[in-house]
Amino acid sequence: MFESLSEKLESAFKQIKGEGRITELNIAATVKEIRRALVDADVNYKIAKEFTDTVKDKAMGEKVLTAVSPGQLMVKIVKDELVTLMGGEEAVFNAKGNPAVILIAGLQGSGKTTFSGKLANFLKNKKGLSPLLVAADIYRPAAIDQLKVLGGQIGVDVFSEPENKDAVDIARKAVAQARSLNKNVVIIDTAGRLAIDEAMMNEVANVKAAVNPQEILFVVDSMTGQDAVNTARAFNERLDFSGVVLTKLDGDTRGGAALSIKYVVKKPIKFVSSGEKLDTLDVFYPERMAQRILG
Ligand code: GDP
Repeated sequence: MFESLSEKLESAFKQIKGEGRITELNIAATVKEIRRALVDADVNYKIAKEFTDTVKDKAMGEKVLTAVSPGQLMVKIVKDELVTLMGGEEAVFNAKGNPAVILIAGLQGSGKTTFSGKLANFLKNKKGLSPLLVAADIYRPAAIDQLKVLGGQIGVDVFSEPENKDAVDIARKAVAQARSLNKNVVIIDTAGRLAIDEAMMNEVANVKAAVNPQEILFVVDSMTGQDAVNTARAFNERLDFSGVVLTKLDGDTRGGAALSIKYVVKKPIKFVSSGEKLDTLDVFYPERMAQRILG
């Protein structure tokens, strides 16, 4: 994950690590390479510039301190800024309710259905909750079957009405059924499209209005780089979602989405998913991710 970014950052620090003193000149040279590494990782230029301007200001402000070496100082500053960029503290995920309703939204192929299964598994096994999965993709019968297979694998009930073409009605009925079955969390897997589409947005917005979810998670494929960020912006404008799920971090992803989404939409990344196996869902910790990037 993010190998190329890690390598480039490591090389950006190489020169300053060999210096005895931190100077305006070696700060400027390091910062320039960091900026290039971020842009190469698909971070938007404006964000990369703002990031490195902050790093530069902090390094200049602390350059009189001689207790740490220039290399250590720069790595520390960059790490702190990466943590801030990706969201600071760990985000809160709210699955309390009677039942709690969690709406899953995103483009087709982003990994929504797989994530819904992973989340149900996580809430069942790690949080001791009793989830109900809901197939609200009314356009792709295969999506319903896929969710049923996932539900079977993890021992979680799946609510579906294959003949019903009204996603709002399905969502309402599912919440009512969850209550009668004593399920305390409902995970609604909505329909996606290949691209942003007005009808899709309306449908998800209508489901939101009907079932008043505690959490609306926007699922996005991290491999799509800056497109991931643009899609996030469009979904957020319409749905005002509560958190982001970054999928496919196991692939050859450069890191741009992980680094920029929080900055652009001001919503935290709550989970990451790296693999198709149902136990690979992870809570997102900015601190750990920054540490991983810096090696
Ligand atoms: P949906 O259309 O948004 O519901 O997406 P799906 O859940 O059907 O996922 C689309 C494809 O991506 C499927 O082939 C999944 O197996 C795959 N997929 C989903 N999440 C991940 C992930 O974290 N890593 C990898 N490598 N593949 C994933």
